[in-house]
Amino acid sequence: MLSGIQPTAGSFHLGNYLGAVRQWVALQESHDAFYMVVDLHAITVPQDPAELRANTRLAVAQLLAAGLDPERCTLFVQSHVPEHAQLGWVMNCLTGFGEASRMTQFKDKSAKQGADRATVGLFTYPVLQVADILLYQANQVPVGEDQRQHIELTRDLAERFNGRYGQTFTVPAPYILKETAKIFDLQDPAVKMSKSASTPKGLINLLDDPKVTAKKVKSAVTDTDTVIRFDEEKKPGVSNLLTILSTLSGSSVEDLERSYEGKGYGALKTDLAEAMVEFVTPFRARTQEYLDDPETLDSILAKGAEKARAVAAETLAQTYDRMGFLPAK
Ligand code: ATP
Ligand code: MG
Repeated sequence: MLSGIQPTAGSFHLGNYLGAVRQWVALQESHDAFYMVVDLHAITVPQDPAELRANTRLAVAQLLAAGLDPERCTLFVQSHVPEHAQLGWVMNCLTGFGEASRMTQFKDKSAKQGADRATVGLFTYPVLQVADILLYQANQVPVGEDQRQHIELTRDLAERFNGRYGQTFTVPAPYILKETAKIFDLQDPAVKMSKSASTPKGLINLLDDPKVTAKKVKSAVTDTDTVIRFDEEKKPGVSNLLTILSTLSGSSVEDLERSYEGKGYGALKTDLAEAMVEFVTPFRARTQEYLDDPETLDSILAKGAEKARAVAAETLAQTYDRMGFLPAK
């Protein structure tokens, strides 16, 4: 199992947590899991060096605070394992230009930046992601819905390589939980909550002051109806709030609908704000504890990189060999 998260913009948001990181924590118990902070992906858009460094440590601290245990999983930083860039190049040479052009994440992101400012790196980042996954021979990739197309590309390229050069890569499947596959922006429930695209009011940052979090929940966009009912098409705002509360509280959406019968949106928002604050308060404290101890953090990362490299180097060596690269003596 392999997955990654970008160190951009400091705090993880609620979509990252519910859509991905929460599953990572659960799956480390049952799988040989590799989780990484994908700093090579972060530079597909301009980064300030000091901020990138700080955000990378901050991302690791948040992953530990969320419950990743370096004894149970391999936690590392992508740029510490050079094989990612190396296999990334190989995968670039296997990908059709048209095939890469069809990636909707690239289309969305480049449209937002303006075509002139989008980099070639942003264009090929899904291909680097293919290499990320294949290096570890991952069977499953726990991600949010927005990543489904990239996992499809990974499957296509793995099969293409295996067909051309002989069985080399495991063909992975996405691991996407239906309920939390897509958490929506609180101000615009038609679009996914996103680090780079959401407006500040629609984005729940896990490291925000809990008072700010509560305020954002209370000003979430709903609808002019009054009934609390799950209906993603007709009531996207309310449905999003129900999904979030259901996951945080452990109550099913049906039970929540029943318990809010006859009550207004205010009651739902108050309860959700409370559940959010209950979740983020200890999360923030734990994150800070890890940040206060950078030596421990760095030693966790050093061990993680070593474990990851052992696997990645073996896959890369086999790949180079299959392709006919002359071995370096
Ligand atoms: P960006 O918009 O810059 O791509 P992001 O918000 O998508 O940032 P990533 O670091 O790219 O954050 O994603 C990390 C993980 O979080 C991925 O598995 C992704 O699918 C998941 N994820 C991101 N946003 C959501 C969301 N709104 N709902 C569910 N999962 C999400
Ligand atoms: Mg993303």
